[in-house]
Amino acid sequence: MKKYIGIDLGGMSAKAGIVTDTGEILAKATKPTKRDGTYQEILKSMADAALEALKLSNLRIEDIESVGIGSPGTPDNEKGVLVYTNNLNFRNVPMREEMQKHINLPVYIDNDANCAALAESVAGAAKDVKTSITFTLGTGVGSGIIINNKIYSGFNYAASEFGHTVIVVDGLLCTCGRKGCFEQYASASSVIRETKIAAEKNPESKINELTGGNPEKIDAKVAFDAAKLGDKTGQEIVDNYIKYLAAGLANAINAIEPEMIVLGGGVSHEGEYLLKPLREAIYKEVYTREPVIFTKIETAKMGNDAGIIGAAMLGL
Ligand SMILES: [Zn+2]
Repeated sequence: MKKYIGIDLGGMSAKAGIVTDTGEILAKATKPTKRDGTYQEILKSMADAALEALKLSNLRIEDIESVGIGSPGTPDNEKGVLVYTNNLNFRNVPMREEMQKHINLPVYIDNDANCAALAESVAGAAKDVKTSITFTLGTGVGSGIIINNKIYSGFNYAASEFGHTVIVVDGLLCTCGRKGCFEQYASASSVIRETKIAAEKNPESKINELTGGNPEKIDAKVAFDAAKLGDKTGQEIVDNYIKYLAAGLANAINAIEPEMIVLGGGVSHEGEYLLKPLREAIYKEVYTREPVIFTKIETAKMGNDAGIIGAAMLGL
C-alpha cells in the first residue's frame, strides 16, 4: 500500500494528511496560516502540518511517495508555480521549489476544487464512473472536471470555472467582475442573501420564527427547514434556488456530458429533498431529453477531507 501526503491550503489554515492509495486518511494535522503572511511563511506552515501528520502516523518520510497541494487559484503543475490566486494575493509563487526546501519529495499542485473532484472520482461518489464534475456549493461555487479519471485543467490551468459562467445577462455583480455569474445564484451565500431579503419582506414567515427574528442567524439551511414545515416563503426560496442551480448544472451537462454530477458543500446536506426536484428540473432542460440514461446527480461522499485526499491523489 503506497502512502502520500495531501495538503489543503485554505484562507486561514493548512490541513495536511497522510493518505493511502485508496483514499484512506491515516493521520492528519492543521496549522494556522497568516492571512498577510509571505509565501515562504505559508509554505512553512503547510510543511509543518504535513510533518506533524507524518509523526502522528508513525511513518517516516521514506515511506511517502509524494506531496500533493490543493490550492485556491490557478496553479501550474508543470512548472510547480501558483500563477494567481485572488484570496491570498499571490502571483507566480514557486510552490514546488519552496515546499522541497522542507520536504524533499516530488511535489504536485492543483486547484482545490479540482482536488475535491479527484477525491470523489478516486474514492467517493464518482468512483464507478470515468467522467464526472464535482460542484462545491459554499461561499462561492467551485467545480472540477474529471475526464477519463483525470483532472481537466485547461491549457492555462483555469478551466472548470463553471461558477463564473453567466446565467443571467446583466445580473448580479460577481467577485470576478462579470455580472450574473452562476456563483451569484447557486452558492450557499446566495441562499443566505435571498433568505434575508424574503424574511424581511414576509415577517409572518416561519424563517423569522426559526431564527428568533434575528437576521444574523439566517444560514443556508433555514429556508429549507421552513419549507419542510410548509412555509410558503421558505418554499419560494428553495424553488427559486433549484431553478438557478438546475440551469447552471444543465449548462455543464450540455458542455461536457459527464456520467455523474457530484454536489458538495453545506447545501448538499439537504440530500434527496434537494436532489429529487433538482433532477426533475435538470432533466427537463438538458439537450438530450430522451436518452437511454441520464447524467446521475448525487451528493459528495468525501466530506471536509476531500481537499486533503484529492491533493494526495495528485501523486497517483
Ligand atoms: Zn464570476
